[in-house]
Amino acid sequence: MPAFADIVLPLAQPAYTFAVPEGMELAAGQAVAVQFGPRKFYTGIVWRLHDRRPDFKRIKPVLRPLGDRPLVSERQRALWEWIASYYLCTPGEVMRVALPALMKPSADTEEAFFEAEFRPRTESYVALDAALHDASRLHELFEKLERRAPKQYEALLEIASAGDGDRIATGEVARRLLRADAAVLHALERKGHIRRTERERTVEHGGSAFRLPELTGHQAAALASLREQFAAGKCAALLHGITGSGKTEIYIHLIAEVLARGGDVLLLVPEIALTAQLIERLERIFGSRVTAYHSKLTARRRTETYLRLCRSDGGELVVGARSALFLPLRSLQLIVVDEEHDASYKQTEPAPRYNARDCAIVAARLFGGHVLLGSATPSLETWLNARSGKYGHAVLAERYGAARPPAIFVSDTLRAARRGERQVHFNKLLLDKMEEALARGGQVMLFQNRRGFSPYVECTECGWTARCPDCNVTLTYHKNGERLVCHYCGHTIPVPARCPSCRVTDVVPVGFGTEKIEQEIARLFPEARVARLDRDSVTSERAFSAIVADFAEHRTDILVGTQMIAKGFDFGGVSLVGVLNADNLLNNPDFRAAERAYQLLAQVAGRAGRRDGDGEVVIQTAEPGHPVLQQVLAGDFEAMACEQLADREAFFYPPYARLTSLTLRHRDPALLRRGAMWLAERLRARFGRRVLGPMAPPVDRIRGEYLAGLLLKVENGASALRAREILAGELRVFAEHPEFKSVTVVADVDPQ
Ligand code: ADP
Ligand code: ZN
Ligand code: ZN
Repeated sequence: MPAFADIVLPLAQPAYTFAVPEGMELAAGQAVAVQFGPRKFYTGIVWRLHDRRPDFKRIKPVLRPLGDRPLVSERQRALWEWIASYYLCTPGEVMRVALPALMKPSADTEEAFFEAEFRPRTESYVALDAALHDASRLHELFEKLERRAPKQYEALLEIASAGDGDRIATGEVARRLLRADAAVLHALERKGHIRRTERERTVEHGGSAFRLPELTGHQAAALASLREQFAAGKCAALLHGITGSGKTEIYIHLIAEVLARGGDVLLLVPEIALTAQLIERLERIFGSRVTAYHSKLTARRRTETYLRLCRSDGGELVVGARSALFLPLRSLQLIVVDEEHDASYKQTEPAPRYNARDCAIVAARLFGGHVLLGSATPSLETWLNARSGKYGHAVLAERYGAARPPAIFVSDTLRAARRGERQVHFNKLLLDKMEEALARGGQVMLFQNRRGFSPYVECTECGWTARCPDCNVTLTYHKNGERLVCHYCGHTIPVPARCPSCRVTDVVPVGFGTEKIEQEIARLFPEARVARLDRDSVTSERAFSAIVADFAEHRTDILVGTQMIAKGFDFGGVSLVGVLNADNLLNNPDFRAAERAYQLLAQVAGRAGRRDGDGEVVIQTAEPGHPVLQQVLAGDFEAMACEQLADREAFFYPPYARLTSLTLRHRDPALLRRGAMWLAERLRARFGRRVLGPMAPPVDRIRGEYLAGLLLKVENGASALRAREILAGELRVFAEHPEFKSVTVVADVDPQ
């Protein structure tokens, strides 16, 4: 056994060397308990075993191994390392997202650490004693028991008949599946007729004769083409299919093939919110092979899932949010990234600021598997990769069955207001269509993008608005409870009765959010049943499922919501979708604004008429001539993509350049400014005009700290690896600078 172990701890620090005590057996990837710092006990992962004595004096020993097998395989470690190097963080920071919380306890004392250590729940299993596998012996016993102890007879019969068909069950049966009570089983055990064991629960996978949906001609052709392109050596492929074209059906076929050969599949979805509907659909086909994994599950559930997968021998289908990428799927052969364009694949806070879609492709290379990227509105990065032949490409241009794409109407809000055809936030066109839809027994979805347009309160006399004392933003008005809340730090105050500035009048809510819309609808359509889906109404997974189920089963007629309702839902009864205000989407000051607006509007529109094809969409805007709206109207993704790509190329934006944004934070604005200037100069000396800034971000003060930004743009063709090394070096110099070391620097590679 080597004498030293480099161990990764869940900290923003490099791996640290510990001594391996005499007689302790360790393997790379295993979890261990160590003491780090004066008195802190951590779970670490053995990264490397070696005999090179480190050059510091007091080398602490590894205290003890945790668990009996490695938790992080060699390929997973390679993925962690790639992420740490690409996203400018440490493997320890990757460990924080990669392992569920209960698997990495830390504590101030060894006793507390022992207390916090995860102990998997075990379950009781029973099996017939081996002597009873002989049919005549068993029958003899049955006869005896039937007369003398009928309850024991019944229990034994139940256990013996748990096998396939008429054969005697020789394997273990979970105690929970038996009807017999404890005393009866105990008696059988005492007499030596059955054996009982306690162990972790296993999942039975059943057979692999899946009942798959029959594909249409177009779908079958797309599937065949994807198979061919994978076989010809493409690691990743884009499935570009309009909403409702049956992308999921194609996933299902590819998944079934991998499961049937004993491989594992990971299906990533952007919103946990969407998993429920999808999982139900997949369970109907793949049964108990389907495992959900996301942050809304309990910590225990996530940990048990991780440990179970460590022991699995393949054939697993995990459906999860971005962190599922880190699960120990040993025969991972296929990763499907559904709605691959979605920004929530990117973790923005805290480190690692990784994009799970991009990491999926790296993972697939490491594991020798394939990635299928699915979307109706692919990201321009992916679309360009597919068009240039770097990725495979398949297209589904038609909706399944009788469903046709919805008819889209753009409705001019200014014109409607001029003609007196506008009631609060609704143009007459939208109101008429809503009335029609409801009269026909259809359902309506209303979309209100609240980002950058949240309601706030204003004094009608002096114009005072409530601002957060620690962040440079206005507070958002929440009717529920009459509170004003800072969406950056959570600072909350009651709505003041009098304007605190002029003390003359009341303050009134301005702008509108989903809550306001919900209220107005109740007034305009008193008969309709209205529900709302947004971050405020969804307090738990259960609340979410209830709202979704009510709408799916038509117990509600109108669903009002934010982006949350835009994504992926498959509600059959929706005949009308309304977008209350497209302007703030179109006028976002971001180089991706047009792409995002197209994606969101196409996705929202895609919720209409998914079954019978009589879907309609009304988009309200003050700028009906906006090119993106025209592209949405025409359903012309390619026109949008080509126009945007031309701009991106001209101005060196992704996919023609790689961006890294640096955000500096400090309480002292003067020090911050000096630090930002100093860093910008250093970087300019290396990168020249590729460095932009310092600039003040849109919100330049958060939680009492001032913010300054720098942007590094490295054009394609220049070595991204070399650029990263130089940047990492400069950031280290800055972190050790005597004047600036108290300035926090956050690097975000490929910001979304
Ligand atoms: P997408 O993922 O592309 O939006 P879905 O896979 O959700 O599309 O398909 C839309 C609807 O059409 C779903 O209700 C789905 O069950 C149905 N559908 C699509 N293809 C088929 C098929 N080949 N057989 C039966 N139903 C299908
Ligand atoms: Zn605040
Ligand atoms: Zn006032």
